[in-house]
Amino acid sequence: MSHDPQIEAVIDLDAFGANIAALAACAPSSMVMTVVKANAYGHGMVPMARAARASGSSWLGVATIEEALALRAAGDRGPLMCWLASPGAAFAAAVEADVEVTASSVAQLEEIIAVAPSRPRVQLKVDTGLSRNGARGKEWTALVEAASSARAAGRVDITGVWSHFACADDPDHPANDSQEAVFRAAVDQMVAAGLEHGIRHISNSAATLVRPSAHFDLVRIGIAAYGIRPDSGMTYSTRLTPVMTLRTRLAQVKRVPAGAKVSYGQTWTAERETTLGLVPMGYGDGIAISASNRAEVQVGGARAPIAGRVCMDQLVVDLGDRPAEPGDIATLFGPGHDGEPTAEDWAAASGTIAYEVVTRLGGRTVRTYK
Ligand code: PLP
Repeated sequence: MSHDPQIEAVIDLDAFGANIAALAACAPSSMVMTVVKANAYGHGMVPMARAARASGSSWLGVATIEEALALRAAGDRGPLMCWLASPGAAFAAAVEADVEVTASSVAQLEEIIAVAPSRPRVQLKVDTGLSRNGARGKEWTALVEAASSARAAGRVDITGVWSHFACADDPDHPANDSQEAVFRAAVDQMVAAGLEHGIRHISNSAATLVRPSAHFDLVRIGIAAYGIRPDSGMTYSTRLTPVMTLRTRLAQVKRVPAGAKVSYGQTWTAERETTLGLVPMGYGDGIAISASNRAEVQVGGARAPIAGRVCMDQLVVDLGDRPAEPGDIATLFGPGHDGEPTAEDWAAASGTIAYEVVTRLGGRTVRTYK
């Protein structure tokens, strides 16, 4: 006999495909790279990668070589890039698997070339103001020179140049103009050094949605492909549908008298007699403890607030006087079309960003794809 998973993230692949198509339409002259790092922002890397390719995403992007190799092991063969590696990373395996790697410094470029079993395809990362990986200033000049000589010696193919915005979700922030200008100058420097720049890219979801001047040859879409706004303050006309619905079933329902206290620390007290529902999910599943006494869950078509502290495996909701039974579906978040909270609502209630709400979902969550 088969059972429903206790904790289920239902992933709507049609919504994902429609989001990718809508984002591609924002940047009609650019290729699309869907970002599937961190288990596709919690949605499951391999199925989302397949769906992204099927939805017209010619490229996929991941952070680490291990993620890229996992995609190759799952049969993915298309253009694939990764961007975050420490010395000693599996560059040779990446090159062998036809994964494009990123060089953020001369030392990194040299390491890649030294270990590669064949001529590596490398993209250069310029730091335009985020100060994460990438080269800036004199180090960028040195990287361009090193890449130019290695290219001339036939030891490397430089296939692209890219950067990443710090404040694209705040479209009026002056850093956007300044980063874009630094990026253009960095590309010009490559041209001046006689180095073909390959594909140029700097836009994440937010810039894809609202900054056409930065679309260049490719846009890298992450959060918006999953149907979540990069920032809840952003406005744009593109329609996005949240892809994930997170649900479980009530494990227990009980009536408690006024004065009953709930969960560790007894931080919640029933003001009157009420019905409590036990939701079998907790911080062990990625539910933020900061959602305690703040976020809401939908049960029986209505919202029920979390009562008391979120525990490792369970949390309690206050159902008031509504009829409820063990086994009733409790929807933590979804697209919001039927009154259920969204991941963005959870983020607001628990003092985080929606990126974290979906990405942190843990090991007990079973993902099903519709
Ligand atoms: N490009 C890079 C290098 C990233 O690290 C990320 C994610 O943080 C993205 C693109 C996608 O960003 P977003 O999810 O905001 O679209």
